Amino acid sequence: MMGLADDGGLLLPESIPQLDRTTLSSWQDLPYQELALRIISLFATDIPAADLKSLIDRSYSTFTHREITPVVRQDGLYILELFHGPTLAFKDVALQLLGNLFEYLLEERGERMNIVGATSGDTGSAAIYGVRGKEKINIFIMHPHGKTSPVQERQMTTVLDPNVHNIAVRGTFDDCQNIVKILFNDLAFKEEYALGAVNSINWARVLAQVVYYFYAYFRVTASCGEEIYFSVPTGNFGDIFAGYVAKRMGLPIRRLLLATNENNILTRFINQGDYSLGEVVQTVSPSMDIQVASNFERYLYYLFGGDSARVRDAFASLARNGRIDVSRAELATVQAEFASRSVNQEETIATISSFHAQTGYILDPHTAVGVQAARELVTDGTPTVCLATAHPAKFAEAVVRAIGQEPPRPAALQGIEALPTRCELLDADRETIKELIRKKAR
Ligand SMILES: *Cc1c(COP(=O)(O)O)cnc(C)c1O
Repeated sequence: MMGLADDGGLLLPESIPQLDRTTLSSWQDLPYQELALRIISLFATDIPAADLKSLIDRSYSTFTHREITPVVRQDGLYILELFHGPTLAFKDVALQLLGNLFEYLLEERGERMNIVGATSGDTGSAAIYGVRGKEKINIFIMHPHGKTSPVQERQMTTVLDPNVHNIAVRGTFDDCQNIVKILFNDLAFKEEYALGAVNSINWARVLAQVVYYFYAYFRVTASCGEEIYFSVPTGNFGDIFAGYVAKRMGLPIRRLLLATNENNILTRFINQGDYSLGEVVQTVSPSMDIQVASNFERYLYYLFGGDSARVRDAFASLARNGRIDVSRAELATVQAEFASRSVNQEETIATISSFHAQTGYILDPHTAVGVQAARELVTDGTPTVCLATAHPAKFAEAVVRAIGQEPPRPAALQGIEALPTRCELLDADRETIKELIRKKAR
């Protein structure tokens, strides 16, 4: 629940449990929730199994697919559909669980929490749906007024539960993010109002995502020995880091394919060892328009053999010189574990179009980036799972450009334009936002 560690670094488990073949085989046919219980209990040793089971069951009861994260076969690839949660993107898999975990721990401690966050689109609605209606939690989500897609805005502002507070800020996403930082650095305010965060550096979010790598592996292979690839469209290195944890636990993953859009700092790192900051470019896959991949810090810890001091130096170098350097031997390790491609917007649109022509299946632009990377990187027939991170209806504009028609809308979005909304329109001013929190905090 603490988010960052006290020294400003990210938290990791003391050790990663190792699974043998026998254990893996015995998990082959488990339903998603049962598998989640096995995996999460290895880490959450402080929560009794019966409680964890009910938290997991409740978290995934909001998903509209019986399998939670089904795998479908299309055009020789396996598509792992992660978008059957309430807000139609993979972030629901983690945030539905996180909301329930927070509530459970707050109840146990007799505490309350005011979650404050900023969003450019997907995270905000997934976080809101994760905690809506919860007694002990209030949530304040800022979004830049008029700068998210209309569907994304509606997904947030149509949630009318009294503990949900949407704030449209007259400004940019960076203005929103900045105010969040200021509030969290105001230690007196942070303590008085028990501010909490749900951003993607939360370890419990990573852990919840480890589960679907196992689940997909079992759908694709009949025997627990075969190695496969996963192709992951990446922004913050969160989702793919979950895959790396699964690999370290012993899941037979030959390599993780890291797919980026024009914001390709991670591709440059994997292919050339060049981790140097660039400018953020806006693309048709906006949830990956990121330069600073927060969770990369966690990977560096393992790459540097668990040497925390070296990780600290690397990030000091990033702050000072705008780059991180690794040795030749370390780069060889990186390249044994990952392969990477950057897929530009024209290629993304072309991929949605050709995939639809061949299969009738509609990819969202983020998923398309991963599919195209897999098409280029996998040449030896190894089974490959592509993570489908959002439902195409969330990014209808790009889809229309690619195939000339709107993707069918799932029930969660039908009629959303006609629903009542609640949202405060405020200036990008810290005192104004603080005042609102003071007024509404519980
Ligand atoms: C957040 C998001 C991503 C990127 O995931 P990371 O964990 O930040 O790498 C990809 N696709 C969609 C649809 C997202 O919402």
